[in-house]
Amino acid sequence: MRQVYLDYSATTPVKQEVLEEMLPYFTEKFGNPSSLYGIGLSAKSDLSLARAKVAKLMGADEREIYFTSCGTEADNWAVIGAARAKKAKGNHIITSNVEHHALMHTCEYLEKEGFEVTYLEVDSKGRISLKDLENAITDKTILISIMFANNEIGTIQPVKEIGEIAKKHGVWFHTDAVQALGNVPINVKELGIDMMSVSAHKIYGPKGVGALYIRKGVVIPSFIHGGAQENKRRAGTENLAGIVGFGKAAELAEEKLEEHIKRVSGLRDYFAEQVLARIPDVEINGSMEYRLPGNINFIFNYIEGESLLLLMDAKGIYASTGSACSSASLTPSHVLKALNLPYEKMHSSIRFSIGDFTTREDLDYTIEELVKIVERLRAISPLNRQTMKG
Ligand SMILES: *Cc1c(COP(=O)(O)O)cnc(C)c1O
Repeated sequence: MRQVYLDYSATTPVKQEVLEEMLPYFTEKFGNPSSLYGIGLSAKSDLSLARAKVAKLMGADEREIYFTSCGTEADNWAVIGAARAKKAKGNHIITSNVEHHALMHTCEYLEKEGFEVTYLEVDSKGRISLKDLENAITDKTILISIMFANNEIGTIQPVKEIGEIAKKHGVWFHTDAVQALGNVPINVKELGIDMMSVSAHKIYGPKGVGALYIRKGVVIPSFIHGGAQENKRRAGTENLAGIVGFGKAAELAEEKLEEHIKRVSGLRDYFAEQVLARIPDVEINGSMEYRLPGNINFIFNYIEGESLLLLMDAKGIYASTGSACSSASLTPSHVLKALNLPYEKMHSSIRFSIGDFTTREDLDYTIEELVKIVERLRAISPLNRQTMKG
């Protein structure tokens, strides 16, 4: 059976070039970058090459990149680090109500320690209001953390404007750019970003490696204590193979960024047009103007999203209800709740995320199957159109 992977926002396959670059680090290039002899020294210089590649993709300086074990660790480190570093100034953090769990649950943890967190609401397209942001800032505010682009509905936030507001008020600005990196042009200097979280496995690199960009001049305490790795700010022997893979993935993403955006958004638009044309009563969550190139999130009215996923799975089509972390439970995601959608529409929402290995044939197959599956589910749905409209 044909298999169509349309869940690139959950994770991406490792590209062949990336894998080939990584393999020698498990065998002949196994040295520890902290060792002072041959293979250690070459490991150290390879580590620094990878760091430079990741830095280049976001317009940072190599010395501002700190490798972590994942995007989640980077989010934890940035927020907890800022909270500890700025405790003397204040205890107030501003974030949004559509953040990834890695950020949101870290803020909730800090609330238990006495920090105060403002969760900005978003509009019906998933964007925060800059006015609300500015109004929320007090003399106790120490950090603004707003994600670059949302993992469920693909909405891109007004990052540059947030950076300007943060700077004007002397508040640090962190952004979770795990979904945006490699999908949107990013220059941390031009955007006024003080800290930024990224992850390799969302850009065709391996799982288990991420990074935190920390602008020169921003000082936060170490998150993992121990040896002197990562300029004494993140201890633990480096995941060299993973980091080298991240470097290669970043290099490829940088070289092909424009082409990638054009191709993937073209496929996405084709898919959306076809679905809207061929299936009645479908809506789109999020903004079409400020959206990740590969993301589309549909509401298939009168249908349970979970049933749709199961029937698609049976046809080899892999998509998701949005957040991989909440898909095991039946509670609708906090992101869809934040859009103020009625309960039924939240349950009818499905995310498709398209990537570099998606083809037009994959999408054509998916469209044909979707037409049939939706028709079948609507025929048996207690939420069918007559009841809903009557
Ligand atoms: C995937 C993801 C994360 C977590 O990254 P991991 O490397 O999987 O820990 C954080 N934030 C966003 C927006 C993500 O999409």
